[in-house]
Amino acid sequence: MIVVMEPGASEAQIERVSEYLVKHGFKINLNRGDVLTVIAAIGDKRLINPHSISSLEGVHDVKLIQEPYKMASKNAKDKDTIIEFKNGVKIGGDAKPVLMVGPCSVEKDYEGLLKVAIAAKEMGCQFLRGGAFKPRTSPYDFQGLEEKGLQYLAKASKETGLLVVTEVMDTLDIPLISKYADILQVGARNMQNFKLLKALGKIKKPVMLKRGPAATIKEFLLAAEHIMYNGNQNVILCERGIKSIDSDFTRNTLDIAAIPIIRKYSHLPIVVDPSHGTGRRYLIEPMGKAALIAGAHGLMFEVHHDPDNASSDGAQSLSIEQFREVAKSFNKLIGRIDYDNRNSKN
Ligand code: PEP
Ligand code: MN
Repeated sequence: MIVVMEPGASEAQIERVSEYLVKHGFKINLNRGDVLTVIAAIGDKRLINPHSISSLEGVHDVKLIQEPYKMASKNAKDKDTIIEFKNGVKIGGDAKPVLMVGPCSVEKDYEGLLKVAIAAKEMGCQFLRGGAFKPRTSPYDFQGLEEKGLQYLAKASKETGLLVVTEVMDTLDIPLISKYADILQVGARNMQNFKLLKALGKIKKPVMLKRGPAATIKEFLLAAEHIMYNGNQNVILCERGIKSIDSDFTRNTLDIAAIPIIRKYSHLPIVVDPSHGTGRRYLIEPMGKAALIAGAHGLMFEVHHDPDNASSDGAQSLSIEQFREVAKSFNKLIGRIDYDNRNSKN
């Protein structure tokens, strides 16, 4: 914490405050300016009530500098979180970035899903994505196949060995979705559904939390904190674009700067979704590459066997042929990154 003394604070007052802090286990560093003296106090602020310092004579202000997201903060751990899955797949830290692909929604054509899954496996992807419970802006749009969709994902996973990531919208569905999914996704619209976050804190399966369209990075990390505070440390963040001024060319604005920022301030893995982040299929490749270079631990994007006739998000989904080309380009880039020297602190 930082203790700012009054401009006219006497030596005796500065000394008294310093002694008080030291007595409570803080290490102090005195910075004497021409006008003000500032005391930087390093220690566990839980050992002291900041108000007891503000009320000491000669104190002007007390500022707490620890981030509010204590468990998600880089300061909480000496190493980045790496989440391990079966087949040796890892997400986070300096692990090789993963690719998560699949349709926006799981649809009734299972063969279509399987075609995507087979191509994904062939192109070296690790996860099959697809929504069985869909958050849709309009109640008239396709709402998802629910358990049938989960069964299709499980079947395609069994045939290909891909891991499954799918969305959970309601606390009541957590046990059912946990049976089928390797990662439970919290959609952007539910980033601050605190009841859902708390309930996901009680399970052990990894949770992928998508950034809300209007959420600041701090709010995003605090949403992750809710899951962690309630017991589940296996949280993956997902940047998926935020609302901004230009909607003529893109659906959202993909916040590339959020990637190095999150890597600087948090130990949690960060995956990027250039499909929802842009809303345009031609932007998946350039923005996916930008995200990888900026330090993303993985990419999630939409691939459909027949995008023009998809039940949802066809415009931001790649066809299987387009996907093969884009995956080649991502794999080439992933192979070129010097992971040992990619420093998460920069
Ligand atoms: C999704 O990934 O299926 C999805 C609905 O994305 P978002 O929550 O980011 O809109
Ligand atoms: Mn979608």
